[in-house]
Amino acid sequence: MHDQQKRGQRIAVIGAGVVGMATAYHLAERGHDVTVIERAKAPAEGCSFANAGIIAVGHAESWAGPAAPAQMIHALLGRTPSVKISKLMDPQLWRWGLAFLRQCSARAHRENSGAMAWLARHGRQELQALEQATGLAFEQGHDGAYYLYGEESAFAARKASDHLEGFSPMSAEELTQWDPALKVYGDRLKGGLLSSVDSKGDCRRFTRALALWLEQYRQVTFHYGATVTGFERGQGRVSAVQTTNGPVPCDQVVIAAGVGTVALGKQLGVRPLIYPVKGYSATYPIRDGAYMPARPLVDETNLIAVTRLGSYLRVTAIAEFAGHDSSPNPERAAYLDDYVARHFGCAVELDAVTHWAGLRPTTPSGRPYLGRLRTHSNVWLNAGHGQLGWTMAAGAGQLLAERLHGAQSPSYGVSETARWLIAA
Ligand SMILES: Cc1cc2nc3c(=O)[nH]c(=O)nc-3n(C[C@H](O)[C@H](O)[C@H](O)COP(=O)(O)OP(=O)(O)OC[C@H]3O[C@@H](n4cnc5c(N)ncnc54)[C@H](O)[C@@H]3O)c2cc1C
Repeated sequence: MHDQQKRGQRIAVIGAGVVGMATAYHLAERGHDVTVIERAKAPAEGCSFANAGIIAVGHAESWAGPAAPAQMIHALLGRTPSVKISKLMDPQLWRWGLAFLRQCSARAHRENSGAMAWLARHGRQELQALEQATGLAFEQGHDGAYYLYGEESAFAARKASDHLEGFSPMSAEELTQWDPALKVYGDRLKGGLLSSVDSKGDCRRFTRALALWLEQYRQVTFHYGATVTGFERGQGRVSAVQTTNGPVPCDQVVIAAGVGTVALGKQLGVRPLIYPVKGYSATYPIRDGAYMPARPLVDETNLIAVTRLGSYLRVTAIAEFAGHDSSPNPERAAYLDDYVARHFGCAVELDAVTHWAGLRPTTPSGRPYLGRLRTHSNVWLNAGHGQLGWTMAAGAGQLLAERLHGAQSPSYGVSETARWLIAA
């Protein structure tokens, strides 16, 4: 099909999370007639609701690696507060876990992390371009972030790793001189990286603002409160998306349904490997900003992220394998409250906290499914961005729109774990 014919197609995007919305933006910018279908009553009610808010280029590393099997055994024995396996007898977890183990070699780790780092940087660049084009405000900041280490050995290993472009290693003394608010970490701080390539922003606010902008300036249609239940299909193509509010006819479909992508894949005879990895966040009103670090930070020893988003402090942690249960567990919420009380108790209103839990749509390799389904020539996946969906969304949306127009992007290829499913 020629590029001109490809413009002006009716494209149904399933999912109004940050990934679906960024995809809708890039498709609408290319002149398509876009309809977004979302089962919730508003955008960003799923995993994009209250994440850490970091455009975290510095965290673009696959969880699957040579050290991961031992870490999983520790988690099974209940020895790590940051990783929990609460639903061991879950067949979906076993299938996912076996694929995860196959991605733990040093070679696979290097390749997957390299691809994630590329997409993370691309995502940040595309987010800034989108911001300029739309003028949206979402508590954004592009001043970088801190990655803090409480163990010398882990800090040394990070300094020796690849992908350090844009990251300056600093001693604990240098860090606290740079930002006195980091003194709260005391002797436990052994060093860290000052990144100039990370950003921050409120993901939910961004997603909602973009939805309004798309409706107003690009005539994108939104069906909220509409659950996708199936597809009308024939001859390897989908002609309409069936929803609880009736069918939506379409020329192309993009599934950007986060952890809901697996159930939708089943309707099309495929089973994408996306596991819901639960994470927790706590949000506190800031009482005294003078005690807050100037940039978002990741405490690499405790695997906790801390971000100031306007007049709020957002703290997130924990990877819990608990199936599709997204209810916040009080014990895990208390873990976050305790951390904040110890480090930022003077800065925030501890009693006015809001807790939340969300399901990260996580693939075994850490790389999202980004391309056309092998089984259906007009169905596309943009799902499985795991711990980095906010970081990658704008870049992944742009790549998907480009691929729909037939462009290849050799810088971000299809991962080994996705080749059976994704054609382009
Ligand atoms: C605690 C925590 C902290 C995080 N911190 C960061 C961070 O700092 N930086 C970062 O980059 N990422 C972070 N993430 C990850 C990021 O939040 C996710 O990767 C991202 O939100 C995924 O977006 P999504 O659009 O794919 O999924 P979602 O936001 O879940 O959107 C999918 C949408 O599809 C809809 N849907 C599903 N099935 C159907 C159906 N059948 N019919 C209609 N609609 C359907 C859902 O209702 C949902 O709204 C964090 C995640 C967590 C949990």
